[in-house]
Amino acid sequence: MALQSACASSKEERILPLLNPTSRARHNHANRIDTIPQYYAEMPGEELDQRIAIARAALAERLVILGHHYQRDEIIKYADFRGDSFKLAQLAAARPQADYIVFCGVHFMAESADILSAPHQKVILPNPAAGCSMADMANIAEVEECWEMLIDTLGDDAGIIPVTYMNSAANLKAFCGRNGGIVCTSSNAPAVIKWAFSRGKRVLFFPDEHLGRNTALKFGIPEQQMVVWDPKDPMASDNADEEIERSRIILWKGYCTTHMRFNVQQIAKARAEYPGIKVLVHPECRREVVEAADLYGSTEYIIQQIERAPAGSQWAVATEINLVHRLAKEHPEQFIFCLDPVVCPCSTMYRIHPAYLAWVLEGLVEGQVINQVIVDEEIAHWARVALERMLAL
Ligand code: SF4
Repeated sequence: MALQSACASSKEERILPLLNPTSRARHNHANRIDTIPQYYAEMPGEELDQRIAIARAALAERLVILGHHYQRDEIIKYADFRGDSFKLAQLAAARPQADYIVFCGVHFMAESADILSAPHQKVILPNPAAGCSMADMANIAEVEECWEMLIDTLGDDAGIIPVTYMNSAANLKAFCGRNGGIVCTSSNAPAVIKWAFSRGKRVLFFPDEHLGRNTALKFGIPEQQMVVWDPKDPMASDNADEEIERSRIILWKGYCTTHMRFNVQQIAKARAEYPGIKVLVHPECRREVVEAADLYGSTEYIIQQIERAPAGSQWAVATEINLVHRLAKEHPEQFIFCLDPVVCPCSTMYRIHPAYLAWVLEGLVEGQVINQVIVDEEIAHWARVALERMLAL
């Protein structure tokens, strides 16, 4: 398949069932924290299907499986609900009869589900190595250091409101909760920025520079009043103090590896090849891509646009490939393709393979909870404060 040969990130699907003990050991050595038993890794797809079906039936109402839109079809077919990270966390909270929430997504999503679900519910991430490259670009030590440096530069009257994107670790959400800040999603980022400026003079936005910039521009903040904070070299500019003093928004230098693949040349090519095509992109893309598009918005927005479009509509879409392929399959009456010709899935989402799902579900049937995600109570409390501020908007 072209999808598999084009992307290093998709190798896992090809190699997982084929590994011998030696190569498996090497695979495990490559910074992996999962310890899936070898027989699951080598199990044929049909057997995995059967075992997953049997385990789901045995667990019945005690189980809910959540599937993020960016998951592959082999996982999505088992999901009781599909959605973006926030919608899925809310759905989990609305199913108190489910003792087990198996979250087929990435780590920060499972953390949010644990924060928002009831105390008796256990949240499971089938493969704990499924992180998010963007979320990993900001950690609590770096954010606290940034905060102190900003206060040093701006003084006690700095008026900074911290805003974290949903795609961040629970301790960063808690940082926002403790410091008068808030969480945002790609759908509500403009409303969150408005909320923040009604309370402070400046916003520290992390971890996605691009969502922050695109949202600030929409809010009317010019680029000259934005400054990029590089945690690896924060005060590199000779005029760093001055730039921070005149800034209204401080953008953390983080990005989504999937959405950074899109560029304006691809848009120009799509328009040349398919006159009249509509270009629909995610706000994690660069500013110039968003500006060159016809429409931009969150994953849920992208889905809605296509679902509401008439037959014969043509779309070039800039978001994760599993979602674009699924939309194309579910809407054969429209012409839908991914703007990036070298199609790669989100490599971290891709780590949720059916072998991991079968492993954790069969563990639950046997009374063993594998790969549970538990957020420390103090962190969960403050993260909930930041999430509840967002929910109250
Ligand atoms: S698509 Fe980007 S932001 Fe979303 S989980 Fe993957 S790396 Fe993270």
